[in-house]
This record gives sequence, C-alpha cells and structure tokens, in this order.
Amino acid sequence: MTEYKHNMAGLSSAEAKKQQDRYGKNELTQQRQESFLKKIFHIICEPMFLLLIVAAVIYFILGEPRDGAIMLIFVIGIISIDVIQEWKTDKTLNALKDLSAPHVTVIRDGKETVIASSDLVPGDLMMIYEGVKIPADGIVVKSNDLCVDESSLTGEAEGVWKINAESAEPTNDYWRKDYCYAGTLVTQGTATVLVDKIGATTEYGKIGANVASAPNEDTPLQKQTSSLVKICAGIAAVLFALVGVVTYFNIPDHVFGDRIIESILSGITLAMAMIPEEFPVILTVFLSMGAWRLAKKQSLVRKLPSVETLGAVSVLCVDKTGTITMNQMTVQNTWALNEDTHSLIETMGLGCETDAYDPMEKAMLSYCDGHGISNEHLFSGELISEYAFTNELKMMGHVWRRNGEIIIAAKGSPERILTVCNMSGKDLGLTEQKITEMSKEGLRVIAVATMRPQTENDIPEKITDCTMTLLGLIGLADPPRESVKNDIAVCNRAGIRVVMITGDNGITASSIAQKIGMPNSDHIITGDMLNEMSDEELREKVKDVSIFSRVVPEHKMRIVKAFKENGEIVAMTGDGVNDAPALKYADIGIAMGKRGSEVSREAADLILMDDNFTTIVETVKDGRRIYDNIRKAVGYVFTIHFPIAFASLLAPMLGITPAAILLLPLHVVLLELIIDPTCSIVLERQPAETDIMDRKPRNPKEKLLNAGIFIKSIIQGLIIFAASFGTYFTILGGNTDNAPLARAMGFAIIMLSNLFLVQVNSSNHDFAFQSITRLVKDKVMWAVNIFTVFGLLIILYTPINHFLKFEPLSASQFFGAVGIAAAAVLWYELVKLVKKIIK
Ligand code: ADP
Ligand code: MG
Repeated sequence: MTEYKHNMAGLSSAEAKKQQDRYGKNELTQQRQESFLKKIFHIICEPMFLLLIVAAVIYFILGEPRDGAIMLIFVIGIISIDVIQEWKTDKTLNALKDLSAPHVTVIRDGKETVIASSDLVPGDLMMIYEGVKIPADGIVVKSNDLCVDESSLTGEAEGVWKINAESAEPTNDYWRKDYCYAGTLVTQGTATVLVDKIGATTEYGKIGANVASAPNEDTPLQKQTSSLVKICAGIAAVLFALVGVVTYFNIPDHVFGDRIIESILSGITLAMAMIPEEFPVILTVFLSMGAWRLAKKQSLVRKLPSVETLGAVSVLCVDKTGTITMNQMTVQNTWALNEDTHSLIETMGLGCETDAYDPMEKAMLSYCDGHGISNEHLFSGELISEYAFTNELKMMGHVWRRNGEIIIAAKGSPERILTVCNMSGKDLGLTEQKITEMSKEGLRVIAVATMRPQTENDIPEKITDCTMTLLGLIGLADPPRESVKNDIAVCNRAGIRVVMITGDNGITASSIAQKIGMPNSDHIITGDMLNEMSDEELREKVKDVSIFSRVVPEHKMRIVKAFKENGEIVAMTGDGVNDAPALKYADIGIAMGKRGSEVSREAADLILMDDNFTTIVETVKDGRRIYDNIRKAVGYVFTIHFPIAFASLLAPMLGITPAAILLLPLHVVLLELIIDPTCSIVLERQPAETDIMDRKPRNPKEKLLNAGIFIKSIIQGLIIFAASFGTYFTILGGNTDNAPLARAMGFAIIMLSNLFLVQVNSSNHDFAFQSITRLVKDKVMWAVNIFTVFGLLIILYTPINHFLKFEPLSASQFFGAVGIAAAAVLWYELVKLVKKIIK
C-alpha cells in the first residue's frame, strides 16, 4: 500500500494535475474512439454505396469518365453528409454522457469541490455519504457510522461497518475495515477517504475490466427499420434482375457488351431508388437530437431507446414528497396531549439531527426557533446515542444527557410511536381522533414521545424496546407544486395514469390526491395490505387504485411488476438506494438529479434535474412528439422513393431507351443527396401536434410503419410519380432528342414536390401554412427550403445542366412545373380539411 502524506486541505489543483499526468484518468478502460477512416469505411460498406460505386465504375468502363466523375463527387457529397450527421450525433451523445456522468465531492485547495469521478487522482480526499457508489479505492481517514455494501466485490450481502485507519489494528484480512473499495456502495453514514488507487488498479478494476464497456445496443425501432431496409433491398434485388433483363431485350441494336452494361446500369438505378437507406440515419439523428432537446429541458436521458419508450408511457408512478409536493415543509399544527406544548416542541427539536438536512426536520427546528427554543439551547447537552430512522421503523430517537438527566426524544409516524407508548384507552382514543383530523387536512402527522431512564444502563438497546410517554402530535404541511393540478389534468386527458407512492399515511395522501385532482383519490393500498396480497390480487387491485401509502421502497418493485403484467408501460420515480431495483425494472426509471442518490441515478433511464413532476409530463409529451416526427419522416422517405423507383422500373417496360430515361443514376444520387438532409432537418424540428396530449398512449406493439401511414405514403407517392413521369413522358413523345427537356421537367417536379411534401406531412391535422407559421422564425427551416430551390436553379440554369443532361426550362415551363408539383402534393390539404369537417 502506498502511504500518502495528507493534510485536511486536500491536494492543490497543481498537485492534482501532476498526479493525473502520472496516473491518468480514473476509468476502468480508456474509451476508444472509432477512427475517421473506419467510419467512412463503414458507410461505404452499406449496400447503397456499393451500388453507387459500381455505377461509377461502369460509367468509366463505358468510356464516360465525366459521368463517372460526377457520380463520384455525389458519392463524396453523401458520405460527407453522413459523416457530419454521425459526428454531430456522437457529439450530442457524448455531451449527454458527460452531463449524466458520476461526480464526487473532493477537497481541493482547501475547499469542497465537485469533480467528475474520472478526474479523481491518488492523494485526493473524497467525501462519501449514503447512496454514493465509491469511485476509487482509498483509506478511511475520518468516518461517521460508515456502512458499506461490498457485495459487488466480495459477494457478502451483509453491510461492512468501517473504522478509521488510525484506530485500526493490523490484521491479515484481505478486505480491510479501514479501507473503501471502488464499485461498492455506501448504505449509511459519511466519511472522508484518502484516495489510494484509481481506475484499473483498484480491486474492482482488477476483476471488472471486462464489464467496463457495454456495447451500444440498437433500439427496438432501429431493429425494426433495419429489417424494413432489408426487405426493400430484397425486393430491389428481384427487380434489379427483371429490369436488367428487360433492358437487355429493349436494345437489340447495341453491341453485346454495351447491352450488358446498360442493363446492369438500369438495374442499379432501380435498386438505388428502392433502398430506403435513410431510415437508420433518421432514427439515430431523431433520437439523439431528441435526447439533446430533452436535456435542455432538465431531463437527461441515459439510454437512447428510452426516448422512444417515453412516448408510450401509460402509467406514471411518482413519489409524493418532493415530486408532487414542493418538499418545503412547515409546521402547521401542534397538539399536546397534556397541554404542555413547550415540552412537546422541545422534545420534537431534541429528536432532530443536530445538522438537519431533511426538510421536515429543518421545519421542526425553525419552528422551535420561532418559539424561543434556539438550536444552541437544544443541542447544548451531550448526545449519548441514537436510534436511527429506517424506512421499516418509520421512527427514530435521540438519547441526550442534559443537566445531569438522561432524556430519550423520539418522533415518527404515529402508528409506530404509539406502539412504544404506554397510555390509557381514553388518551389513545383522543389521540387517534386527532391524528385522523390532522391527516384529513393533508398534513403529515408526526408523533413525539419521550422516556427518562435513570442510568445509562437503563437505555434500551432498540427503540422498539422502549416504554415511552406520548407528548403530542405535530402536523406538517408540504403543499403540492403549483403546476401539478394542471399536469394531472393533462395526464388524465392523455390516458396516462398517475400513481402516487408515499411513506406518509393514507388519509394524508388521499387528501393531497384530492387537492390535485387525481381520480379515485379515496382508493388506497397501504404497505401492510400489500404484504398480505398475492401478486394476482395486486394485479387486479391496481386497475383502479392509484395511491400507495405507508410503503417502503421494496414495495415499489411489486407495484411496477403488477402494472407491467397488466400490459402497461410504466415510468417510476425513485431517489433512494433501495429504489434502484424498481427503477431498473420499470420501463422508464426516473431518478432525481437534486436529491437522488447516485445509485438510483445509475439505475435510471432518465435523470430529472429539477425533481419536478411537470418536467416528467413534458418529457413524456416530448417522447410522443419525437416518435410522431420519426413516423412522419419515415412516411416521407417512403413516399418520395415511389416516383424515383417507379420511374426506373417503368422506363424499360415502356421500351424507353436507356439514354432517354427520366432518372439516370446520376439523378437518383442527386435526389438522395437532398432527401436525407431535408427531412432530417425540417421534420426533426417539428413542434408537437396540438392534440398530442389528447390521445391515448400508443400501443407499444404497433409497428412504426403502420397500415395508415403505408397507404398514405403509397397514394402520395403514386400521385407524385404520375405527375412527374406523366409530364416527362408527354414531352418526350417517343423522341430521344426531347429527353433533356422532358427530364428537366420531370426532375424539377420531383424536387419541388419534395419541397411541398415536407411541409404538408409536417402535421397530420394542421395545414401546411400553419406548420410554416409555427416555424416561421426558424432560420434553419428557411435555409433548407431556400437551399433546395437554389440548388434546383443552379442545376437547371448554369452550365452544370449540360453535365446532368438537362435543358434549361423557360419561365412558363418552370412555373408549370411548380404548379404541377403543388397540385401533386397539396391535394392532401383537402383531405385534412375533410377530416376536420367530419370530426
Ligand atoms: P415519503 O415517501 O412521502 O417521502 P418517507 O418515507 O420519507 O415518506 O417517510 C415516511 C414516514 O416516516 C413519514 O410519514 C413520517 O411519519 C416518518 N418519517 C420520515 N422522516 C422522519 C424523520 N426524520 N423523523 C421521524 N419520522 C420520520
Ligand atoms: Mg421522504
């Protein structure tokens, strides 16, 4: 073991820097970045690019190096777009990862500073406390009731009580009691630890190097779309053969070699037009951009698939305290059994932690202060021992020696405190009546009791062994957050059930539930009832009960399970260490960024930076929006592929010679170059549909490309095809010399339709002009549209047109094309209108 000299001021920044240069980062394995060339290689291996490259090569073989070169330029263009998109996604995802990365408090330059755990160096003094996952190995310098769960290392379930290194006696045990290990969990207490080993040199690093990096798994949607792409590629392969053969027989006048090559070329054009290779790109871009936008609204997505699951959430299980309520407690009411209010308040104060951080205890201490009992006065005695609060006991106590007397001050949930009190039946009846009264007002009721042992030997071992005297009751108010009522109403309309989970008593919970407008606010399941119920009974019960009171974190698991078995998609909040399993098991586990423990954050899919219920509802709404937009984008891509594919398919069938066809491979590539960016950019930015929270959650089993979208895409696609190909075919009139003009018209129509289509398909209900007005201030949307129009003008009216085998259109022809394109797309606005009227 290395011995570090240390003083309580910790390292200086300069020393820390030096240590980091020497020992590196505190990471199990260094992150390896995919190299730039490898990325490009991956892109080129996509079937689409292989086709492109084959086509370019064929051009060269055909003795048309100019066409081949243009083709290659386009290929480079598409690759650049892909690389830029991927780079941007990576950057976004890494930024998200950094935001949700674990942090640790250290003492540097004499001050407590929060740093990323990866920046920890040997020699640092780190502070650990309940709920922290220890990030490095180190020596316990100073500790206070420190208990650590080391099961991840030793397999030992029992917590280990740690001692200070100074007072430790030398042993031969491998696992030391005065030492903390990386990867283990603080379950109680606090400590200052001198970091000794970091990264792969820690005990955890030695065994855990192989668990370090989980591979990035594809999301369910990604799997769905990649199978869709495969199906399309399969169909493309069949049609490739068909078109090839037909083309071959169409050109008997060419020499054999040319015939073969022309056939392959038209086959390739078709195949290129058929493969919707944009799908996977759309997904990654939409999901990661979505996660990014969520992060700006205070909710950090830790796993990309959660973005798609969010939109399907049908049950929201939330903690009452702090999420639904503000977690700002005030003492509202006191009731003293023997009318000795002063003793009641003083004992309540003595029962609080001397350095209270719990809002409830803070409220109690400030109430004492307001009644002339200062903290100095309260805590002037000697704290002999404590009965710690646990979720199961729901009460706690402090044993003080004051002015030569021993006083036990206990407080906790009335049910539990009453079990340790000795009192007459009459008093009991009175107290119970008072409890109900206060609870009905929505107050948290705390009972305060005391006991005065004669000597230290008379102090009971456990709080449950005490025989106390009840002093009275305290009623604390924790008002619901202001926006909650509205949020609950939104959830009700959106078919999302809100379920309240609390450690408080049922009457209090029910009263709050009623205040915020939760349906069925009088149906309650308590923790005790839950213990009695079988899983089947619970599954039945949760169909109409939305309040769980007096529960402990371990119950959450059963609650999530019951809902999931009923086919619901469950989001669940949690902050404590014991909440982690339920968070993991829920479809969306939500941890609290402010008051949550690190363990809960690690188990969660989503971290709520502001602990606010409103943010959860907003996040679900955004999840729906993102999913909607993905659907729109997929539908759009599908639609726009129709005119392209059909044009390539029909040409040989109609006996059009290869030189005269509407879309040469060049043009297909050019269109691909436009489709991907326009739809990613414009559709990704679409705000939520106005009715987005008025519909039921989507069926999680439903396919992305459902029948409705499929039919709509086919009809839209076929009409654009008819408009562009019809125009082209009419102008061509069977004469190859007319091809450049006919092609220019056809191409212009496809491109302009594309422009209109994005706007029309931006919303399922609102008219295109409404979608445009909503984004009217969005420079990016305008940039994309203007860019497309300019692109078209450049292609048609600069010398480039010659390379692309276009003839410039006259003004009337150009506006004719605009008109045809508009008609081919805007008819859908009428459909929307009719739908609106029928509704
Ligand atoms: P919630 O789930 O609403 O946050 P908790 O689990 O924090 O509720 O608390 C449950 C119950 O335990 C409270 O209603 C109260 O009766 C009791 N309790 C909580 N904290 C303390 C405390 N510091 N001292 C005494 N009793 C407490
Ligand atoms: Mg609490």
